[in-house]
Amino acid sequence: MSVPGDEIGPPDLPAGPPVEPATTGTPDGLDRLWTPHRMTYISGQDRPEGGYEQPAGCPFCRAPAQTGDDSLVVARGESVFVVLNLYPYNPGHLLVCPYRHVADYTDLDPAETGELAVYTQTAMRVIRQVSSAHGFNLGMNQGGVAGAGIAAHLHQHVVPRWGGDANFMPVVARTKVLPQLLTDTRDLLAAAWPTTPPR
Ligand SMILES: [Zn+2]
Repeated sequence: MSVPGDEIGPPDLPAGPPVEPATTGTPDGLDRLWTPHRMTYISGQDRPEGGYEQPAGCPFCRAPAQTGDDSLVVARGESVFVVLNLYPYNPGHLLVCPYRHVADYTDLDPAETGELAVYTQTAMRVIRQVSSAHGFNLGMNQGGVAGAGIAAHLHQHVVPRWGGDANFMPVVARTKVLPQLLTDTRDLLAAAWPTTPPR
């Protein structure tokens, strides 16, 4: 999928001559940050022997069952839950997932569809409250061809953005994430998560 980056570039440029698509050179900042194919690559390191297709090998099926200190689950709803991305594009990068192991957005029933939307909104509110994010990228990659690293289990990305963050993201993305930092982030977000989300 293509998540527009219109918050990054200069707004409302005056109309000029048509610009040929660049075939070489340096991609813009958003392209460096929003690189879903990187997830496929990174996720491959932890790829289970049987792949992600079966729930037994699926990290999004296993995540809700983890309740210890190393759990990255931020909030649990009736039919969806919210978990920190193990390989975040930015601090606080959340994934809103149905408990059910379904791949396609059209597989969600009405209750799941509604709660996924509400929890996406709540995730934005909580991240804004905790970290004063300037903006967000929201979205779902549907299918491996569209960049989904774990295509078998639907997950909605909620990526907080700050002005200038694209400048350091290439470094962050190549840095091994320390689990302790992730659990600290989890504690921070979970503490700010409303106990009764708006319905
Ligand atoms: Zn799953």
